[in-house]
Order: sequence, then C-alpha cells, then structure tokens
Amino acid sequence: MQVPVIDLQQQFLSLRDELVAAVTAVLDSGRYALGPAVERFEREFAAAAGAEDCIAVESGTAALILALLAHGIGPGDEVITVSQTFIATAEAISWAGAKPVFADIDPRTHTMDPAALPGLLSSRTRAVIPVHLYGQPAEMDAIAQFAREHGLAVIQDAAQAHGALYRGKPLGALGSTVCYSFYPTKNLGSCGEGGAIATSDPEIAAACRALRDHGQAVKNRHDRIGLNARMQGVQGAVLSVKLPHLERWTEQRRQVAAWYDELLADSGVETPYRAPTGRHVFHLYVVRSPRRDALRAHLAERGVGTAIHYPVPIHRQPCYEELGMGEGSLPETERACREVLSLPMYPELTREAVEYVAEAVRSFPS
Ligand SMILES: *Cc1c(COP(=O)(O)O)cnc(C)c1O
Repeated sequence: MQVPVIDLQQQFLSLRDELVAAVTAVLDSGRYALGPAVERFEREFAAAAGAEDCIAVESGTAALILALLAHGIGPGDEVITVSQTFIATAEAISWAGAKPVFADIDPRTHTMDPAALPGLLSSRTRAVIPVHLYGQPAEMDAIAQFAREHGLAVIQDAAQAHGALYRGKPLGALGSTVCYSFYPTKNLGSCGEGGAIATSDPEIAAACRALRDHGQAVKNRHDRIGLNARMQGVQGAVLSVKLPHLERWTEQRRQVAAWYDELLADSGVETPYRAPTGRHVFHLYVVRSPRRDALRAHLAERGVGTAIHYPVPIHRQPCYEELGMGEGSLPETERACREVLSLPMYPELTREAVEYVAEAVRSFPS
C-alpha cells in the first residue's frame, strides 16, 4: 500500500463538474479580478468565520500584511508571534516594516505560550499574532487579556484553522482580526492562491479593502500606499463551490484523527494533545518522536508519506540571523522542530489506510 501525505485529486474529482461550471461562468462573465464571484464568497465566508465582514485577497501572506497595515503597524514597531509556524507569519511582520519578536510555545499544543508574553513586552510592542498551528486554536482568552491590558492589537493567523472553534465560537467572533489562506493544501483550498481577512471592525475592513486595491477607497484617490492583493474571480467561484463542504471535510479530518489516536495509543510516539478550549480541525496530524528522522525513513520504506512542519524554526533561519537568537533561545520551539512528524491527513483518508499507517508506525522499534 502507498499512502501519500496529502491527496488533492480525490476532492477535486468529487466536485469536478461544479467547479468547471463555476470557473466557466467567471470566464464567460469577463469579471476576472474581484467582481461578483468574489463578493459572493466574501459574504459566505464572513458568515462561516463568524465575522461581520470578509476581505478576499490574493494569499494568506497578503492577508497578514494587509491586516498589520490596517492596524497601523509599521517601522519602529514590534509584533509578538511564534517561531514554530510557516515563515509567512514573520515575513508579513517584516514586510509591514515592523520587527518580529518570538514567543516560545506550549509544547503540548504547539501554540503561543501566554506565559511567555510579559517577558517580551517593550515600549514598541504594538500587536500579537497567535497562530492556530495544525488547526488547533491558540489560548485566545489569555492572549486577548494580555493584549487588552497593554493596548495591543490581536491578529489571528488562522491559515491552518478554517472551521476551528474557540470556546464554541468561530474565530471571527472573538473580537479580533483573523487571517486565512486558501492555498490548495489548506482545509479550504482554492485552485491557485487565495486568502482572506475576517473582521467585525468596519474601520479595519475598510482599510483592508482599500489597501488590497492600491489604497483606493474611491476610484483614483489613493489615500494610502497600498498594493495589488486582489483575489481572482475564478478563485472566488471555486471557493464558493467548496465552502458548503467544509464542515463535512472537517468532521472527516477529526474522524481520521480519532482513528490515529486510537491506533497509535502506546505506540511509542506522542499523539496530538487537544486543548479543552478549542475544536481542533486537524489541518495536520502531527506526532512527536525523539527519533523522528529514523521513524520518517522507516515509514518511507513502507510507502507512507510524511512531512515536517517545520524542521527549522524561524528564529534560526538565515533571513532572521540579524535578530541574533542563538540555539537554545526558544527551547520548546527548537525541541518541537526536532521531534514533529506530520502523518498522512486529508478528509478522504480511509480507515484501512489509517490502519496501514498506524501499523507501520507501530513496527518502528522504539
Ligand atoms: C499557509 C500559511 C500562511 C500563508 O498563506 P499563503 O496563502 O501561502 O500565503 C501563513 N501562515 C500559516 C500558519 C500558514 O500555514
């Protein structure tokens, strides 16, 4: 048996006719950049995210940059985030002109450790970006309370967490700005690139809307320096076809995770912890092993695809050398990066395939 780490083809084939029809309608309409298909998706996705408004953009990275700019963050400012995340979280802070400051993670949840925040605060701190890594919501109560006490903005990086809930509420209902990605492998993926900002703050929404279109709120009047970050019409149409299926796909991911939990109990690898405050949507199913690289090779020999999210923490990347954060500066983040392994995860994964993967893990001599 061969089990790939991800399979996008099955989902595409299950919706092929609808997707082709929706894309064709946009091509026929001639509304290729933004347009009615994108506006419709914005209304639908705002409701799904639990927010008043949604601004569709060209990528998750653009969503983060625009959200930071809309909150007035720029040169001289510091933004606290995590180092165990995709590089885009930190890149966005840098492109906004600010400096990323990295908090260590809670090793159980792989999300921002709220206890690390007070030690990172400076007179320049303006915002906090928690990342709902792997689909597990960060500890938003403690993070939001810290932000409130110190007058900081909160921008959630939900690129891996479509459909996640925190204390029973969608992330857009928590009172802060939320950024999503629709990169093809995400829980809700376009057929190309896409992203969105969900917010219930009309000023933030208006700023993001203007910024994605060269800073124009009114045609030919450029109030601020923006950029071109508009979503393509075709992607809006694709996402509207897919959105009604998100809840079912999320339940399927959670079922796959439950099977793994059951079949990997006492297998020698550490299975994912689920925080009681959140609904984990399992963008990834990530186990930990101190012998991760040997386990990965063992699985590859048995036809099981795996991936590492992420092998090198951001503070140890060459592009952030100037921050001067040496080995050992974020111990839990660094240990996680050495131990994490993402097993195959996608909604269409069968019980049989999960059993095969689990058996391959169990046959690894621990
Ligand atoms: C994918 C991802 C992004 C960036 O999204 P793009 O659409 O690829 O630009 C940002 N943050 C996290 C945590 C991601 O997983």
